[in-house]
Amino acid sequence: MANCIKIDTHTHILPKHVPDFAKKFGYEGFVMLHHHDDDTADMKMGEKFFRRIEANSWNPEIRKEEYAENHTQYQVICTVPVMFAYFSKPKHGLEVAKFLNDDILNTVDKFPKNYIGLGTLPLQDIEHSLEELHRIASLGMHGIQIGSNINDENLSEPKFNPLWEACEKLNMAVMIHPWNMMGFDSIRKYWLPWLVGMPAETARAAASMIFSGVFDRYPKLRVMFSHAGGSLIPTIGRLEHGHRCRPDLVALDNPNSPRDYFGKFWVDSITHDPDLLHYIIRQIGSKRIVLGSDYPFPLGDLKIGRYIEQMGLPTTDVENIFQNAPLEWLGMELKEL
Ligand SMILES: [Zn+2]
Repeated sequence: MANCIKIDTHTHILPKHVPDFAKKFGYEGFVMLHHHDDDTADMKMGEKFFRRIEANSWNPEIRKEEYAENHTQYQVICTVPVMFAYFSKPKHGLEVAKFLNDDILNTVDKFPKNYIGLGTLPLQDIEHSLEELHRIASLGMHGIQIGSNINDENLSEPKFNPLWEACEKLNMAVMIHPWNMMGFDSIRKYWLPWLVGMPAETARAAASMIFSGVFDRYPKLRVMFSHAGGSLIPTIGRLEHGHRCRPDLVALDNPNSPRDYFGKFWVDSITHDPDLLHYIIRQIGSKRIVLGSDYPFPLGDLKIGRYIEQMGLPTTDVENIFQNAPLEWLGMELKEL
């Protein structure tokens, strides 16, 4: 039996009430919550319905109870990617980010033994992002969640270098979450943006960062890729072979093989497949895999890693995934909890 706490590094939370930013700023695209009497709410952009959610999306007390049932002590909370508002004017993006971050900071403040916060940044503008990064770091946040692309720009773009540099300097962990999935409009049927697009998006983010040399320029940067790294790790042979056979296309900015970067980033444990988790442990080691769930959404691992306890793994692997790797990624020590 593993003798450790469980830290779920990938959970989403929303403020119960979201201002009408569309009305305030004078243009659409911002998400609002429309609450119903049965303690559910609809996330809508203007008249466009996005998703119906339940009270465990905003109520920290209910979340605490559900986590206690799953023997999990800590939830790392971040916003839902549809809230990023990267499309908005920079000053509006900053206002939205501050509002979301303050709500998370407030929850962590009220329940320091249950919640650890990740912030969001208005990455359409790097200066505003750095300002907000410094603010939330000074208020006790341990990291940020950012999208797999920023308004269709890859994370390999040099304009993001100041972000990586600041995260390294401020000891802020970075979670990269798929969103704004490439090809979205042409693959809408069968929920393909979520089932096929998301793993590809995460691989896009990871591969672009590796090939551009981000991990060499910022060796102390701690990045975690969601959903077990998407399709990155299962396709590493292809990436490696492509790098070798067509360096004229791939090795433009970095001569090193992509496989050399295994061990230099973290991924979460959301595979829905024990065989795949076994494979990822063999590839990058359990010290680089953090427990994640995507709670409270139905596509997540809502038993919060129970399948990991049933895989017959060595205890050290389970303890790494549940506790040690999350702490190392967050830059925290057990005694701080
Ligand atoms: Zn998620």
